[in-house]
Amino acid sequence: MFSKLKDKLSGWIKKSKETVEESVVDAKVEVEMPKAKTKKKGEEKIIKETPEMKSKKSGGLVEEVAPSGVPSAEGKVPSEVGSAEGKIEEEDKTKIEEEIVGKVEEKKSGFFSKVKSSFKYQISEEGFDEIFDDLEMLLLENNVALEVVDDLKKKLSGKLVGKEIKKEDLEKEIRGELKNSLNEVLIEPDDPLDAVGLKKGSGKPFVILFFGINGTGKTTSIAKMADLLKRKGFSVVLAAGDTFRAASIEQISIHASKLNVPLIKHDYGSDPSAVGFDAIKYAEKHRIDVVLIDTAGRMHTKTNLLSEMEKIVRVSDPDLKIFVAESIAGNDAVEQARAFNEMIEIDGSILSKADIDEKGGTIISVSHATHKPIFYLGVGQEYKDLKLFDKQEFIDSLGL
Ligand code: GDP
Repeated sequence: MFSKLKDKLSGWIKKSKETVEESVVDAKVEVEMPKAKTKKKGEEKIIKETPEMKSKKSGGLVEEVAPSGVPSAEGKVPSEVGSAEGKIEEEDKTKIEEEIVGKVEEKKSGFFSKVKSSFKYQISEEGFDEIFDDLEMLLLENNVALEVVDDLKKKLSGKLVGKEIKKEDLEKEIRGELKNSLNEVLIEPDDPLDAVGLKKGSGKPFVILFFGINGTGKTTSIAKMADLLKRKGFSVVLAAGDTFRAASIEQISIHASKLNVPLIKHDYGSDPSAVGFDAIKYAEKHRIDVVLIDTAGRMHTKTNLLSEMEKIVRVSDPDLKIFVAESIAGNDAVEQARAFNEMIEIDGSILSKADIDEKGGTIISVSHATHKPIFYLGVGQEYKDLKLFDKQEFIDSLGL
């Protein structure tokens, strides 16, 4: 699962680290000076300007800053030296017995800086934009919606820009802050079974309505949910609320008999609200814990059919409204989620077919677009293949 996004993210983190480091190397070249001649104590140590001291680039990527303007061990002078018209200010005259003679051309402020000592980096806003460009592309290619990318950018830039990062921690920091940002972008998960458990014994069944377009795995997800509830000790009744699509009633009947749970069904073309209503009455009469109601998986764009769904919601007064979509559907799934959420205000989603999803971005995008949790991932075609969504595990699976 999500192997493509994982590989791409790992590549980006490495490349970003290199971009920052390479820029710093460039800056060293820019202000490189010959080794200082060192005289014995009391004598002057002099470094003369060389042609190399002239800036080789007009808009360097890096600003290198050292604490006291001391030439580094390799005889390289941090650019800060040049920033005050070439004169180094000695901060600690007792320690420093060197004086830079000559003028190092002032370098423009760069994208990345070394700060305080040559062992720390600082990423500027422009530098961040440069490394984020690649991340933006790879996220978009992996089904992460633009609005999520923008949100992620804001969060990540808030964490990285201006932060002093030790050279050896550069990769770890970029990875860590990306992880933190993703954590903030993803809505906290929620286990629907907690609410089911709370209602058990109340004399009223827990009612769950399922929405989503045809072929996305809605019926299979209902069957998986029924199986899970049974395994957790809850009794279940199914309602064949999709009275529109040919063979849908037969399809859910097969699941009901395999799972050995009752099914309430009417004829094709009948009012789906009535099917849901009857299933709830049946559950009340037989003290069944949970009612799972299927609905017609019509295109979310057909407004008259969506108003039918509003009626089902009104009549069955569900405890949960779950939207089902394919993890592999990308932007289509996000559009569907948004439309269903606007129409009937969903409580959360199940994303099916995550087992064949190499990208993973739909999961982030659907959760972000609806501001509702992902309840479960469908991870195969067996009943057991319904996995409670775990945010940390998901982030870990992206290699972060
Ligand atoms: P519906 O029309 O939305 O009710 O979709 P179905 O439940 O009939 O599922 C459509 C197809 O997707 C079927 O072949 C299912 O076996 C398959 N499917 C459903 N969920 C998953 C899943 O999580 N992983 C995989 N690989 N296939 C799934």
